[in-house]
Amino acid sequence: MEKIYLDYAATTPCDPEVLEAMKPYFFEKFGNPSSIHYFGQEAKKAIEDAREGLASFLGASPAEIVFTSGGTESNNFAVKGVAYAQEAKGNHIITSAIEHHAITEPCKFLEKHGFKITYLRVDKDGLVNPEDVKKEITDKTILVSVMHANNEIGVIQPIAEIGKITREKGIPFHTDAVQTVGHIPVNVNELNVDLLSLSAHKFYGPKGVGALYIRKGTRIERFFHGGDQEKGRRASTHNTTGIVGLGKAAGLCRRKMTEEAKFQANLRDRMIKEIQEKISETHLNGHPLKRLPNNVNFSIKYIEGESMLLNLDMLGIAASTGSACTSSSLEPSHVLLAIGLPHEIAHGSLRFTLGRWTKEEEVTYLLDILPKVINKLRAMSPLYEKK
Ligand SMILES: *Cc1c(COP(=O)(O)O)cnc(C)c1O
Repeated sequence: MEKIYLDYAATTPCDPEVLEAMKPYFFEKFGNPSSIHYFGQEAKKAIEDAREGLASFLGASPAEIVFTSGGTESNNFAVKGVAYAQEAKGNHIITSAIEHHAITEPCKFLEKHGFKITYLRVDKDGLVNPEDVKKEITDKTILVSVMHANNEIGVIQPIAEIGKITREKGIPFHTDAVQTVGHIPVNVNELNVDLLSLSAHKFYGPKGVGALYIRKGTRIERFFHGGDQEKGRRASTHNTTGIVGLGKAAGLCRRKMTEEAKFQANLRDRMIKEIQEKISETHLNGHPLKRLPNNVNFSIKYIEGESMLLNLDMLGIAASTGSACTSSSLEPSHVLLAIGLPHEIAHGSLRFTLGRWTKEEEVTYLLDILPKVINKLRAMSPLYEKK
């Protein structure tokens, strides 16, 4: 049986064209980009080309791009780097209640070291209210970080509006755009952001490489100490192959993104409509319109996300859940709790995310099989019996 991958928000396969572009840099063009000989200069040129391409894709200038090992490092660098650079000015950071762990964990770390963090509440659709940002800003606020789109429920935040407020107050504004770069338009000037994180493996590039956009003039403490790569902002020998792959992946998305988003949004809307029609007592998580073109997230009452996942997996379908029984904790996702779902409903959530190689037939197959899986599980569920 052909497997069906509907978990593109977790990671995407590398595009074959990306792999082709990377290949020469593993072997004949293997030089250290910091070396002054031919081998080094050849690798350096490839990195600078990737930087220019990515910068132009984001509406930034090449000097504002720092290559990193991925979204997690970019987020850690942004939050801790700005916090420690601005320590003399203040110790207050504003973020949202639904950030990725790569933002919330650095924030919790900073809380242990004298910083104060405000976690903005979101409404039932997962949206941050820009007015709340305005209200929470104090003269000690040194950073605001709100994600562009949420990885679980796909909600797209009013980043440009928040950025207008932070700019007026002269406070650096970071956004985690790991779910949006390569999928919907991302322009650092239109979004009014000062820092922006992205990761190649979420848009058909290789794993383990990403970038942080840092607007010229933004004060940030270095995170890696060592060599003077990336103008001293990020030590360690460049991941040439990864950076070349990231650049190629960004170039491909730039060409294909509009059409892909349209195709995926159509399938997404069909899924949302049919799941609601075919299955009783479901709840769409995340704003119905302000959402990623490839994200479908439902809570399905009376059953566990994990058992749905396992059953779908046996039928060859890969999806994801916000129920954290898969991890070591029994807590459901903080995102689903933040939009106000009770624990038992948050545990029954299911996420499908579409991508470049999703076929209409695959969605048709899923929509045929899903109601059957759910009926079977509900028939076994003591919660369903009791209702
Ligand atoms: C995947 C993801 C990250 C982490 O990126 P890595 O490159 O895997 O470290 C951060 N934020 C969001 C929103 C993500 O979806």
